Amino acid sequence: PLKTGIVGLPNVGKSTLFNAITQAGAESANYPFCTIDPNVGVVEVPDNRLQVLSDMVNPNRVVPTAFEFVDIAGLVKGASRGEGLGNKFLSHIREVDAIVHVVRCFEDENITHVAGKVDPISDIETINLELILADLETVEKRLEKTKKNLKSGDKIFKLEYEVLEKIKNTLENDQPSRSIELTNDEKMLVRDLHLLTMKPVLYVANVSEEQVNDFDNNPYVKQVKEFAEAEGAEIVVISAKVEAEIAELSAEDKQLFLEDLGLKESGLDRLIKAAYRLLGLITYFTAGVQEVRAWTIKKGTKAPQAAGVIHSDFERGFIRAEVVGYDDLVSVGSMAKAKEKGLLRLEGKDYVVQDGDVMHFRFNV
Ligand code: GDP
Repeated sequence: PLKTGIVGLPNVGKSTLFNAITQAGAESANYPFCTIDPNVGVVEVPDNRLQVLSDMVNPNRVVPTAFEFVDIAGLVKGASRGEGLGNKFLSHIREVDAIVHVVRCFEDENITHVAGKVDPISDIETINLELILADLETVEKRLEKTKKNLKSGDKIFKLEYEVLEKIKNTLENDQPSRSIELTNDEKMLVRDLHLLTMKPVLYVANVSEEQVNDFDNNPYVKQVKEFAEAEGAEIVVISAKVEAEIAELSAEDKQLFLEDLGLKESGLDRLIKAAYRLLGLITYFTAGVQEVRAWTIKKGTKAPQAAGVIHSDFERGFIRAEVVGYDDLVSVGSMAKAKEKGLLRLEGKDYVVQDGDVMHFRFNV
């Protein structure tokens, strides 16, 4: 499954947030494929459409889709030179598909800041620099090899050399490699390097409990917002402390608590949705009397591979899919009506599944 890594300097609120994630935890019986590891938290993706489908079908159970957050603690200044538990943590980041970067936007005299004062931009730059330095090392190593391969005269190595040079220059200017526009071919050439700064990032501004619904005047949040905007990244403002409290409540109490604070949604739910988008994920549904369920796929996935998320047999024996768009289905109110009105389509193996599709697969065993 796809994973998002949580990074940030010490004492910014990562563990507090991660604890909220594991507390809110998904029903693990539903997700047998997820990793069992104390540093991995499985979260269910909130989706109102599930309730609507469930009201329509009255199934025995409803199962949201889920993905994983990984707690990557221990990143400090100097990590790329092996300081702290440096390299070990960098290798953990290599394995994730996207990065959630937590920054401290709360003041609290009792909680030490590693750099001596609250300064989110400097914090972001400190972490980014470590990732950039680690990538620079990776790229330089590869460049050595590519240089030797150039002698073979194969055009592919020339192209690879050019891409690597481009990335190297960008990194040397303290910019992440994701800031370069690369063609798909160019991306393929460096994909196996698993560059840390190539991964998509979203910033989490951790504010104090007092500011959870009133952070417009928090100057740190404003700085992070501007920084994220310039990078084309998203920012989610939360209070990790409040999230940790919410995570201990029952669903009902959670709703009351949020209403009390004047919030529609918990910060964690907003974060989960943002991370889901960041990973380029979409949801399709299956809706039977046994189970109404949401499934996660990458945008652009075709029907057989989408079916394969449920079971590899579905992919291997795929014949076709019966598909109705969520909005179409809701507009007529039932599967039977959708069929009657011709809204239920038969799609073959080249069909690209769309977000919200309600699917039924036909397959050979
Ligand atoms: P980590 O080192 O990044 O994992 O940070 P922790 O989650 O351990 O948090 C460090 C300290 O900051 C702990 O004492 C937390 O209780 C505290 N903390 C985290 N978030 C907030 C917050 O929103 N407000 C305040 N006042 N303290 C917080």
